[in-house]
Amino acid sequence: MSRSVRTRPEGSGRALSEAYDTALLDLDGVVYAGGNAIAHAVDSLATARDGGMRLAYVTNNALRTPDTVAAHLTELGIATDAGDVITSAQAVARLIAEQVPPGSRVLVIGGEGLRVALRERGLEPVESAEDDPAAVVQGFGGPELPWGRFAEACYAIARGVPWYASNTDLTIPGARGIAPGNGAAVEVVRIATGAEPQVAGKPLPPMHRETILRTGAQRPLVVGDRLDTDIEGAFNGEVDSLLVLTGVTDGATLLAAPPQHRPTYVDADLRGLLTGQPEVTGDADGGFRCGGWTATAGAERLELTGDGGALDGLRALCAAAWTAGGEQGCGLDSGKVLARLGW
Ligand SMILES: [Mg+2]
Repeated sequence: MSRSVRTRPEGSGRALSEAYDTALLDLDGVVYAGGNAIAHAVDSLATARDGGMRLAYVTNNALRTPDTVAAHLTELGIATDAGDVITSAQAVARLIAEQVPPGSRVLVIGGEGLRVALRERGLEPVESAEDDPAAVVQGFGGPELPWGRFAEACYAIARGVPWYASNTDLTIPGARGIAPGNGAAVEVVRIATGAEPQVAGKPLPPMHRETILRTGAQRPLVVGDRLDTDIEGAFNGEVDSLLVLTGVTDGATLLAAPPQHRPTYVDADLRGLLTGQPEVTGDADGGFRCGGWTATAGAERLELTGDGGALDGLRALCAAAWTAGGEQGCGLDSGKVLARLGW
């Protein structure tokens, strides 16, 4: 099935919390950062929910259980039930359960979130290749994961046992720097075995399917901070997305985005759920207008004239850059115009 290439952010005359029935929210960089709530997140989510929008939290982190995540959110002031949390551990457990006999043993290289998710599907977590597992599954295990478990995985995979991974995020940004994520641990096993895992997490379809099955969303809006997981996951699931600029994505990355990384809407933070979105319009000279700004693509760089709110300037620039980039990422220099907007 072919999809049209998005060349500008869309407008919405209605608040997004009214135009969509369910927000599928990423956590880190959207709701919290380093354990603390991001500015405006708590109030905006409460208002969206009071207005009738269902809120669900979708995380690639397979270490924490939905209970733990819900307790953390509730502590931050966002009352959440475990049933509102969807993890990549749940998505990969469903994937495995569909492919192995009921009640099978599964060798786990990971933590509690993965074990709980497997038991929920009637599967039995085990720790040794000698336990006759029907599958091997790998999810983030945290600092206490013993190195010997990687060897167990390799022994089983070498015997032809199918291998699954909750997600392949290579890194985990933290307060002290960048730590290796589950994707880095998956690479260890890949290098040692030459095998290839089936992966469930964002941006791949099993994760999106899990969120739809668990929420029953009819008209979902994916809300995320990362282009290659959240926004690409929405693209693959063929649903709309809102990029918030409270996490890892900066203006230059957004302007250079290839089609699968272009969000439907762009806003500063979760207050964007509560408002409409301005239209970006094209003019006869090849410029793109939003608010008081006009953006154009020059031969080597993006240009911006006018004035107004910085976000409207960024939206106009998205249209100029994405149109110029077409089916590729735009390679035009954006440093000067982004500096003007304060990005
Ligand atoms: Mg994130």
